[in-house]
Amino acid sequence: MSGDREKALVVLSGGQDSTTCLYWAVERFGRDNVSSITFDYGQKHRIELDCARDVAAAAGVPNVRLPIDTFSALGGDALTDASVAISNETDGETELPVTFVAGRNLIFLTFAAAYAYRHDARHLVTGVAQTDYSGYPDCREDTITALQKAISLGMDREFTIHTPLMHRSKKQTVELAVQLDALEAMALTHTCYNGRRPPCGECQACRLRAKGFREAGVKDPLLDIG
Ligand SMILES: [Zn+2]
Repeated sequence: MSGDREKALVVLSGGQDSTTCLYWAVERFGRDNVSSITFDYGQKHRIELDCARDVAAAAGVPNVRLPIDTFSALGGDALTDASVAISNETDGETELPVTFVAGRNLIFLTFAAAYAYRHDARHLVTGVAQTDYSGYPDCREDTITALQKAISLGMDREFTIHTPLMHRSKKQTVELAVQLDALEAMALTHTCYNGRRPPCGECQACRLRAKGFREAGVKDPLLDIG
């Protein structure tokens, strides 16, 4: 398919999933056609930004960092609001984890599309998944399908949002990373909700990650860092 050599932009958070997607995009579109974008949205764990930079460097693709300071101004979620502790708790009303940042993926992908529009790319790649994850509604396939339509109409360009992990379990995501030769880059990633590298091993994000590696029978290289 000739379209596979068009330009692609990967939304890179510095975590395990977006890192796997970056390597997926490099294989599919070719290294020279891939770039990555990372959003500084006021996340408490600034380490994510450095991890994204390091992962992109390891993969040999450019990384652009863009600021979005509105989420922390809105507050109310555990990832940006200093008054909300990061925990495995769910919000009593919505039953969503306190780590849910309302609108985050919608805004990220819309800004990514705007950036792609200016840089002649029409393929966006994101690590969202609806299997084995935290239950965020903006990670679901129907949300992404609707958003792809909205940004394509709104910018009058046919965007494709690729979600290579959408139907993969954490175990299958680890297997994909192995297949893509992305395992070494996993040592550069950050997953922990408590902002730790090496990871705390206790939070929901750490537990999900550990489960995936355990079930895939692969040792997580992140556990080997000093
Ligand atoms: Zn953790």
